[in-house]
Amino acid sequence: MFHNKNRTGPPCKHMEKLLNKTAEGSARGIARWYALAHAARCGPCRRFLNALIEMIARLRASKNEGLPDETAQRLKSSAAAAAANIPFDD
Ligand SMILES: [Zn+2]
Repeated sequence: MFHNKNRTGPPCKHMEKLLNKTAEGSARGIARWYALAHAARCGPCRRFLNALIEMIARLRASKNEGLPDETAQRLKSSAAAAAANIPFDD
């Protein structure tokens, strides 16, 4: 896998869709793992994913749609776990 070493700027083009799916919870299995592993190594994608997760959690909470923070919390902790386990270059 290749990733953007530049830690500022937009997320990697090829990752945007997958990061969206991961944030909204529709990415599963290896696809979700891949997105989280990539985000753990790639600053722009990590910020993008975190921002999406925040936004979706807020949207769901404000709409009171049922599964409010739980999915976001789970995603956040697995993103954090991935970030902790996978060192990225500074
Ligand atoms: Zn990236």
